[in-house]
Amino acid sequence: MTKKLFIQTYGCQMNLADSEEMAAHLLSRGYSLTENLDEADLALVNTCTVRDHAEHRALSFLGRLRQWKREKDGRHILFAGCAAQRLGEKLKKTFPYLDLVSGARDIDHFADLLDKSGLFSLQHGGDLPAKGVTGYVTIMRGCDFACTYCIVPSVRGPVHCLPSKDICARAAQKAKEGFPEIMLLGQTVNAWKEEGKTFADLLNEVSALPGVQRVRFVSPHPAFITPQFLQVVENNPKIARHIHLPAQSGSTKVLQEMKRGYTREILLEKIRALKARGFAISTDLIVGFPTETQEDFEQTLTLVEEAGFSAAYCFKYSPRLGTPAAQMPLLREKVLEERLDILLNKVRGLADDAYAAHVGKEIEILMESPHKGRSSDNFWAQTKKSYTIGTIVKTVAEASDGTLLFTRD
Ligand code: SF4
Repeated sequence: MTKKLFIQTYGCQMNLADSEEMAAHLLSRGYSLTENLDEADLALVNTCTVRDHAEHRALSFLGRLRQWKREKDGRHILFAGCAAQRLGEKLKKTFPYLDLVSGARDIDHFADLLDKSGLFSLQHGGDLPAKGVTGYVTIMRGCDFACTYCIVPSVRGPVHCLPSKDICARAAQKAKEGFPEIMLLGQTVNAWKEEGKTFADLLNEVSALPGVQRVRFVSPHPAFITPQFLQVVENNPKIARHIHLPAQSGSTKVLQEMKRGYTREILLEKIRALKARGFAISTDLIVGFPTETQEDFEQTLTLVEEAGFSAAYCFKYSPRLGTPAAQMPLLREKVLEERLDILLNKVRGLADDAYAAHVGKEIEILMESPHKGRSSDNFWAQTKKSYTIGTIVKTVAEASDGTLLFTRD
């Protein structure tokens, strides 16, 4: 009987891709996947540490696994990802029943780690079942920025770009497995480069692979929205017209204190250039950074108006131990809450407006189920007719309810 692997992933899409990669190694060692923890022999917990809350959730799940492990002989627990990287082997003091810790930076040596542990013998295993239409391909790890509120550089380390030939081989494999959409992943994904090649060149290469119909990427940094990038996307319709561009604040002063590497004016200039090329732009915003004044906060509100985001994910600033900003005095919680409320009210209607703007227009949707697909600019649409999953359908949006477009056919 094959052993069963249960995976619990916290955090971003990069973690989902890392879970997939770790799962592939475990499947090649004879495991098969289960979504039921009770029937699992191995629990893989892939963790996030960007916010305190995410780390606590992972640790509390790990705490619950103590009883799970006791219930059946031969069960193992593997704790991986960013929280594993930050806390390291000392986790085993608090959780002595933990079998293996694999930090986010260990992903490239994950197979060696499994071999050295002696817990996972190499047997013939199965493949990961294809799920959805999007194949995730990590193209770089780490970050060379030093945003003062962010723990990622100290956890994931400096940028390490994967070679384009490996990226293309992986993307081609994904397309062959039946994923027409490729999502390129990296902490600052558009900072990817190699000798003589930029991220824009890579986008062209990946989109030209057989079977690839659409290419997305996450998370880009505004600093790398270059004229070459804009020119490439203009001429390449396979590059999705949606970008999640974290702005974080609308105040140049706060952006400088955050060490984001751009001003409000530069950001708005890039946003205008992207919108002129048909991009829908979603963003992340932080309220209550320690030095944020009322005037700074109001600049974030006006940024929302000027930028015309299609969606904005808003967060209250929360300090991460070990970051420079964590040493600054915090604003009062009441101020943070009030600002978050005001900002949430401001962004509430964004999706409604962005969906409504598509009504009466032609859209191209990549079908993710027989009646549902996603447009290049990332809006969900429901069709009357049934279509094959993975095909691109050209149609017209007739109506919208703010979460869905309803098409003519
Ligand atoms: S760009 Fe800034 S926020 Fe993003 S991962 Fe790097 S340090 Fe963190």
